Amino acid sequence: MIIFRKASDLQRHLAGRDEAIAFIPTMGALHAGHTSLIRRAHEAGHFTVCSIFVNPTQFNDREDYEKYPRSTEADISLLLDSACDALFLPEEQEVYPAGADAVTAYDFGRLENLLEGAHRPGHFRGVGQVVGRLLELVRPEHLYMGQKDFQQCLIVRNLLGQMSLSPRPQLHISPTVREDDGLAMSSRNRRLSDPQRALAPVIYQCLVSIQTKAEEGAWPVVRKECEDLLRDKGFEPEYVSLADSETLESLDGFDPDRGSVALIAAKLGKIRLIDNMFVSQR
Ligand code: AMP
Repeated sequence: MIIFRKASDLQRHLAGRDEAIAFIPTMGALHAGHTSLIRRAHEAGHFTVCSIFVNPTQFNDREDYEKYPRSTEADISLLLDSACDALFLPEEQEVYPAGADAVTAYDFGRLENLLEGAHRPGHFRGVGQVVGRLLELVRPEHLYMGQKDFQQCLIVRNLLGQMSLSPRPQLHISPTVREDDGLAMSSRNRRLSDPQRALAPVIYQCLVSIQTKAEEGAWPVVRKECEDLLRDKGFEPEYVSLADSETLESLDGFDPDRGSVALIAAKLGKIRLIDNMFVSQR
């Protein structure tokens, strides 16, 4: 694996390669969820480029940005054991040479104000900025992202439609990798205390119960059960939502004929956790 700090060096290395380039953008504090994306890209025969950049413009909460786990040495070791071909490790200056304000801020309409967007104002503008910028620098044919951040995947799909990249990268959405007890792997899990870590899988348990009860339950009742359980266990739920899996517009009830996804965001102390699961496929 070769490490690049300068985009121009990376671009020189990528120019004229026979394999298609696959890109896996990350914010580091890597875990098996991230390496699953790299493995998928590698298994598809692509040259895999992973980036680590903690993008300041997508954090609406200063403390969350400052406390975001950073572990570059350990990340590099993990990447060396994975099928990563190149790591792009830019400084902020490299991503935003003229400042972040000089970078196009794409408009995602309603999608950027729903769910995560409603609770994290400006978050998806920042995601659009950084992913757009990184795509301009890396110019991949394939882009691998995790279903764990489902709304982000829809935002990026929209972004790819707005950008005039040639070729337009193909977006691959990869399944969420979970711990043995169901907790979705996340860099933020590192910030959980032991008692919080023991409680964290309740979010997963709620999603499974939503999936199970979709056959005969009434959504408002199921949602209330989940919210009550989360509160009982000491979470502060931000949303427990059933939404159309294309638009993320919220649904009033289960509908087996419509693609739907259940999404939960809840805080345990200061740590904000999100997860989601498909409920019905179109
Ligand atoms: P992040 O470093 O959190 O920005 O995540 C980088 C990429 O890894 C995003 O596409 C995430 O959706 C994906 N990712 C994060 N956690 C997981 C997971 N548990 N399973 C699969 N993909 C994940």
